[in-house]
Amino acid sequence: MRALFKEAQPGARLIDAPVPTPGPGEILVKVMATSVCGTDMHIYNWDGWAQSRFKGPMIFGHEMTGEVVQVGANVDPSLVKVGDHVSAETHLACGHCYQCRTGRKHICANLRILGVDAPGIFAEYAVIPAENAWVNDPEMPWEIASLQEPFGNAVQTVLAGPGVSSRTVLVTGCGPIGLMAIQVARASGATTIVATDVNEKRLALARGMGADVTVNPREADVVKVARDATRGNGVDVLLEFSGNQTAIRQGFGALTYGGHASMLGIPAGAIEFDLANDIVFKAATVIGISGRKMFETWYQVRELVTSGKVDLKSVISHRVPLTRFEEVFDAVNRGEAIKPVLLPQEL
Ligand code: NAD
Ligand code: ZN
Repeated sequence: MRALFKEAQPGARLIDAPVPTPGPGEILVKVMATSVCGTDMHIYNWDGWAQSRFKGPMIFGHEMTGEVVQVGANVDPSLVKVGDHVSAETHLACGHCYQCRTGRKHICANLRILGVDAPGIFAEYAVIPAENAWVNDPEMPWEIASLQEPFGNAVQTVLAGPGVSSRTVLVTGCGPIGLMAIQVARASGATTIVATDVNEKRLALARGMGADVTVNPREADVVKVARDATRGNGVDVLLEFSGNQTAIRQGFGALTYGGHASMLGIPAGAIEFDLANDIVFKAATVIGISGRKMFETWYQVRELVTSGKVDLKSVISHRVPLTRFEEVFDAVNRGEAIKPVLLPQEL
């Protein structure tokens, strides 16, 4: 089978690999669509994080969907069976740590990630644990089914804490996850949505997805714009998707007293932050968001997608065969892509 193999150097290599065999508790999936995530870019570019974290050499990639073609021993058919269309929950929980045993697998103390700690899915076929399979409605388009994993990040972020219904919201960072979050916030009854990014193209997309006010922090004062849009109060909810120190500070600056912040973006390193003024005296509640709740978030994802309340197609920027991976990774590196979808079965 064709697969994207990652060695300890920048780039990746298309190889001919044996089709893997599912072991006990595992399934073999014919991969119909995969999408490219920021994590894959770190690995592809072989930056410091990837060098210290990636457990290769091996096939990488994690966002995926496909058809189950074989099941290993001890897989309960009521969970998943041959012929099912599945997406993968990409966080592999140990099942026996304190968090797992108290119903919080998404923050497993021994968490491993598909395509980072275990062989990934940029390939024609991939093996995943049966318990990580999420069975989709058969009519869901493959490219949409693949996007449910990053979409789940957006969903968990928006719905965390008090949620956004009848509240004013600031979204910092309009990458694919921030853009999807704007749609979720709109579908969930947010009143005013302010969105920031330094990329004008992404701000235009944000307006198309339901942002009422967009701000480029290089051109205008984010805190002032957010206050002006909220009767001088500041926003009720901050949803952080940039991982950028300046954006994070502006986000908290724009947050109202007693407001709520959900933090998904990951800064490249430690950042400076005014804890006293931005959290303590502001009496803000702050929640860190990791992955998707297993599987509460996936049920919410399915309802949002199948009801048509969100349109995930609008964040897809590329649909190309896996063999043309280089042009896609280059487009992401040049800042020209939003969410690329790679098709392993096409040439
Ligand atoms: P992305 O890098 O495409 O999006 C980040 C966006 O922030 C970009 O559009 C960028 O232009 C914008 N940005 C940069 N500086 C800014 C500034 N000063 N003000 C406003 N915007 C600014 O990433 P993504 O795929 O959309 O993911 C969003 C973030 O979430 C990333 O940091 C990613 O690492 C993180 N992430 C976290 C989890 C988790 O489980 N916590 C999971 C997936 C991704
Ligand atoms: Zn665990």
